[in-house]
Amino acid sequence: MKAPFLDLGPQHRALRGEALAALAATYDATRFCLGKDVEDFERGFASSLGYPSALGVNSGTSALHIACMIAGFGPGDEIVVPPFTFIATAWGVTYVGARPVFADIEDGTFNLDPAALEAAITPRTKGVIVVHLFGLPARMDEIMAVARKHGLFVIEDCAQAVGARYKGAPAGLFGDAGTFSFYPTKNLGGCGEGGAFVSRRADVAAKARLIRVHGMEKRYHHGIVGGNFRLDGFQAAVLNVKLPHLPSWTARRRSIARSYLAGIRLEGARLPAVPAYGESVYHQFTITHPRRDALREHLAGCGIGTDLIYPLPLHLQRCFAGLGYGKGSFPAAERAAETCVSLPMFPELSDDQVHAVAEAVNAFR
Ligand SMILES: *Cc1c(COP(=O)(O)O)cnc(C)c1O
Repeated sequence: MKAPFLDLGPQHRALRGEALAALAATYDATRFCLGKDVEDFERGFASSLGYPSALGVNSGTSALHIACMIAGFGPGDEIVVPPFTFIATAWGVTYVGARPVFADIEDGTFNLDPAALEAAITPRTKGVIVVHLFGLPARMDEIMAVARKHGLFVIEDCAQAVGARYKGAPAGLFGDAGTFSFYPTKNLGGCGEGGAFVSRRADVAAKARLIRVHGMEKRYHHGIVGGNFRLDGFQAAVLNVKLPHLPSWTARRRSIARSYLAGIRLEGARLPAVPAYGESVYHQFTITHPRRDALREHLAGCGIGTDLIYPLPLHLQRCFAGLGYGKGSFPAAERAAETCVSLPMFPELSDDQVHAVAEAVNAFR
């Protein structure tokens, strides 16, 4: 039995009629940029996931950019970022002229190590971007304790963690701002680009709303520098169709993860950590193995798709060569990049496929 790494087909075939009807209604009403679909989505997203409010924006990258603008990061400021994440986690820092300062991850969870955060702090440190990587919340109590001690602005990159909870509360409500992505491959994906911004702070949420549309307080009056970060109506229309399914999709991801955790027994493999403090939404199910490339080849031979997420940490990317890091700077992130392999993980996988993935992993020699 084969299993692709990811197939967006089944979900979109199942929702085809409903999604196309929603898109037609948006088309007929010419609600193209913001408008009722976006407002409905913002309300539904916030109320179903437990946020005081939410703002639809045009990508997760934009949401992070907005957060860095609101934080007031700028030239001379250092912002701590984990090096094992998608590059966009660090882009906002760079866009506002501040400097990403990397701090290593924990081996078990792939998330920012609170001790490494503390060690990275200098008098110039103004903030930290925490990533809830692969859907597992980072250690927010410890991270917030360090952040409070040093007066840091905390941004939570929740692009992979929609629906994830830390000690019962939703990811994105611990720091000053939380950012989401609705890129099609994310747990809640649009049919194109999209993102959201949340904050427990009313002042931050209000400022994000202004920045989203050119810093416009009143029509054609611009009090602060903003941008064009609007979510489009078509994406919101599709997201409104998908949002009610998110709880069952998340439950299915967790059930697949439980099957993998119970069924995979491979010498030398490390499976995702299941800490008591957090409920992962398993955006990815990423394992590590010292002979990762051979394992991947074996799985490909069994018809099992895999991906490398992520093969090169941020501090070793050419775009950040100017920051002065090198190989050996962040051993845990480098170990993760060299040994990680992500297994098929999407709600439409069948039980037989999940079983076949585990069996194929176990058959590796
Ligand atoms: C996808 C992703 C982003 C960027 O989101 P886009 O909507 O693609 O701009 C940022 N951070 C992480 C961790 C992501 O996975």
